[in-house]
Amino acid sequence: MPRYQGPAFVLKKWDLGESDQLVSFLSSSRGKLRGIAKGAKRSKKRFGGLLSPFLLVDIECFENPNRDLVRIERCSLIHYYASIYGDLEKLLVGCCALEFLERVLPERGSQEDWFQLLQSSLECLNQRAETGPLLWVFFAKALNLLGLQPQFGQCIHCRRRLGGSGVFGFSVPHGGVVCGACIQKGTATHRAASDTLRLLDSWVMLPVEEGISTVDGRNRCVREAARILEAFFVYHVGRELRSLRVMREVLADRRKVKG
Ligand SMILES: [Zn+2]
Repeated sequence: MPRYQGPAFVLKKWDLGESDQLVSFLSSSRGKLRGIAKGAKRSKKRFGGLLSPFLLVDIECFENPNRDLVRIERCSLIHYYASIYGDLEKLLVGCCALEFLERVLPERGSQEDWFQLLQSSLECLNQRAETGPLLWVFFAKALNLLGLQPQFGQCIHCRRRLGGSGVFGFSVPHGGVVCGACIQKGTATHRAASDTLRLLDSWVMLPVEEGISTVDGRNRCVREAARILEAFFVYHVGRELRSLRVMREVLADRRKVKG
């Protein structure tokens, strides 16, 4: 039975009976795996309550070629993202990223890019004072990694590179920008300012931390970019994220309370 040991992030877990847990996790070299952790709710020595989201853990497990589920043997802490646990908004943003990965990633396969994206996103979330557009930077990069590769830099019909200023279209079903000359084809589903498209393009291209800092108070562009990204993944991935709805409801309630 091949043994795997390495860094991982828990994406989701479910209780199984009195003491066991089913855990979905993203490992650095095996991609997403699901496994049974026998006695996880009781064994402090083997698991120490560390099979939880927003911790970087070292997981040891055994893979059985005839079964989809691995057997998780033990885990230990590598890093604790303390500031995420201490901030409701950060926690909600983090939950959206984890739900997205748990839902869209196929199991197994070497997917180090995904691990790096989650790690750098959680590090930013942990270090920054404000969440800012982090979630949307994460989604822009994740949709690209998923192979959906939305085109923000050139027209999907005539391939003309976009430059200058002005308002363009974005076609969710066609997965990219529609230039002014091609807009009469009627494929655009959203309006998008050139600044918004440049922002989206930079989010795909730049590392997470740099992507966030390109925003520079362009809040209208961030809102426009968020609408496009959300419509894009709902259309192409075929489902909405429950965590995103919960995040909006909780943050709206909080704003009401603050008055
Ligand atoms: Zn065009």
